[in-house]
Amino acid sequence: MITAVIDETHAPDRTSWVPGADGHADFPIQNLPLGVFSREGESPRGGIAIGDSILDLAALTRSSLLEGEAMVAASAACAPTLNAMLALGAGPRRALRRRVSALLCTGAPERGEVEPLLVPMAGATMHLPAHVGDYTDFYVGIHHATNIGALFRPDNPLLPNYKHVPIGYHGRASTIRPSGTPVIRPQGQTKAPGADAPSFGPIARLDYELELGVWLATGNDLGAPIPISEATDHVAGLTLLNDWSARDVQAWEYQPLGPFLAKNFLTTVSPWIVTMEALAPFRRPQPPRPEDDPRPLPYLWDEADQREGALSLDLEVFLSSAAMRERHIAPLRLSCGPASAMYWTIAQMVAHHASNGCQMQTGDLLGSGTISGPEDGTQGSLMEITRGGKQPVELPSGETRTFLEDGDELSLAGHFHAEGAVSIGFGACRGVVAPART
Ligand code: MN
Repeated sequence: MITAVIDETHAPDRTSWVPGADGHADFPIQNLPLGVFSREGESPRGGIAIGDSILDLAALTRSSLLEGEAMVAASAACAPTLNAMLALGAGPRRALRRRVSALLCTGAPERGEVEPLLVPMAGATMHLPAHVGDYTDFYVGIHHATNIGALFRPDNPLLPNYKHVPIGYHGRASTIRPSGTPVIRPQGQTKAPGADAPSFGPIARLDYELELGVWLATGNDLGAPIPISEATDHVAGLTLLNDWSARDVQAWEYQPLGPFLAKNFLTTVSPWIVTMEALAPFRRPQPPRPEDDPRPLPYLWDEADQREGALSLDLEVFLSSAAMRERHIAPLRLSCGPASAMYWTIAQMVAHHASNGCQMQTGDLLGSGTISGPEDGTQGSLMEITRGGKQPVELPSGETRTFLEDGDELSLAGHFHAEGAVSIGFGACRGVVAPART
């Protein structure tokens, strides 16, 4: 594994000449996440977020400001997806980061040449950063697995394989969309408890799942596993991911083969890839396993991964109803808490996924599974917060919710904090629920 490298790009005293970048909650100069944007009438292309602006990488390649590996990376990012750039791996990505950081930092002599290459974020449309070939959703949030397991199987919440094998299922890549995409209420087959027969129609129990998304930079050959010691090197970076879920469909369909139509109608991601380079100051030791827990098999165990495989990350979820937005009432924070309850690390997910020789590819997306803490106020889905719909949440407008209603806006936020480091974030991951199309 490449040990997380902290360099001048992370220096807490580094500031930027770009207005609004210093002190920006998500995109100060220490972040520099990668995305794909367009403006009206233009084709989508790669960009780097800085404050409330986007540095146009295609325009940057036409300047004389880049050379070497940084130029290779930026040139590969001129396309409507970042797959070609991600496939280059960490070296060129880091070279571009260092060069862009130098160009954007206070006092940079190139400021006059770089300023015209900035695009206001407000006027830009964000796209998916990469073409997703395959999407897999894991289940590494152990408190979520226990809470949900208890609702579906009160006598048997955490199945015996959970602490031995990172559980996941193959999701649907075609329905992954960037933040802001409407959440069309799906129709589905459900069977109410006590009903004689199932019925079909707009689903009633629309829920969200607060997750991390992991973008793969490089894959492996078919049949050639990725050793856990190299797994992190295959990761480009992270996003927020909302695995919208139809709980009533899920309850009826999930046995014996797991999630299907309850999950594949939409998955929303924050459009910026926060790179592994940017995350270096926020890597933490994986919390030790309780003494009674089994030690993972050797193919899932790496000392370096245990030393720095967790993240110093705080996650939040906000809900606002249409009535709240109309009355200018601030969104209700449904939950907040540290992302420390991931039972398996990102490297363990990647190594396990490829352990049977499954081919991983550039642009593959992995979901972490819902991240919940153990206490009230830290749970990452309404299913948990409302105890399966039994305890409604009261909104500041006086309305109540058990699950999401049409017009509701749900947004996720995540920020990395560490002593001696400037905090960085993911940007928006939101969606408004639209009525079913019957
Ligand atoms: Mn999920």
